[in-house]
Amino acid sequence: MIKTDCHLHSTFSFDGSSDAESETVRAIELGLDCICFTEHNDYGIEDGGSFVVDTPAYRDNIIRLKEKYSGQIEILFGIEAGLQPTENVFSYFSAYLKEWDFDFVIGSSHVVNNVDPYFPEFFDDYADDDAACRAYFEEELMNASMYEDYDSYGHLDYILRYGSSGNHSFTYEKFADVLDPLLKTIISHGKCIEINSAGFRKGMDQPNPHMDILRRYHDLGGLPPTVGSDAHASEDIAADFDRTARVLLSAGFGSYSIFRKRIRSEIPL
Ligand SMILES: [Zn+2]
Ligand SMILES: [Zn+2]
Repeated sequence: MIKTDCHLHSTFSFDGSSDAESETVRAIELGLDCICFTEHNDYGIEDGGSFVVDTPAYRDNIIRLKEKYSGQIEILFGIEAGLQPTENVFSYFSAYLKEWDFDFVIGSSHVVNNVDPYFPEFFDDYADDDAACRAYFEEELMNASMYEDYDSYGHLDYILRYGSSGNHSFTYEKFADVLDPLLKTIISHGKCIEINSAGFRKGMDQPNPHMDILRRYHDLGGLPPTVGSDAHASEDIAADFDRTARVLLSAGFGSYSIFRKRIRSEIPL
């Protein structure tokens, strides 16, 4: 059983609905050994899409919770950095990540050209869902090629949660010309990818990323993924982790990765 959840949002994130203490209590009830909060920092999105967590307040609260629940659960201090392939965003994160002593940094793509695929109108700009997916993966390839200050690339096929048919018509082969260089770049930089169990809750019968991406990442020599539920509410903490463990095993992994003070270690499945 996976007893570590390294992708959690609380009310410190704009879209979190449970406070961090309730989530901590829930994680203890579930018997987890360790949780890592990874609140949003989506700096530099145009048209009002940016959100930057109140980092001083967030960090103070982590310190308080660590003390209060010491001996019951390990609590880690992480961030989900919303990556965009611009010098402005990369230099911002380079400075921001030097300023704060995070345990774990997820680099995630939440937008393509400043628009989040969460919004149905995102897809209006593309001929079909496959064209939108291709644009999303191409932007991730730019991010991964230009920027290395992250530990694990989050929900690599986040876009498959959305669109009218994206996750039903996905095949690795269709996008191999972009996904292969993306995975190879991540691997060659010594980074992990994440297995994010929210895909199961978002109408996919897959985690993010899709099993076929995980399998290819494994076969290319990728490090064991990090694991997170991407919960924004207490009830989703560690959701579908049994299915997630089965997917990891069937992709060929015998362990998963966890970061403390940006240093990776492995936990057997
Ligand atoms: Zn995300
Ligand atoms: Zn997230």
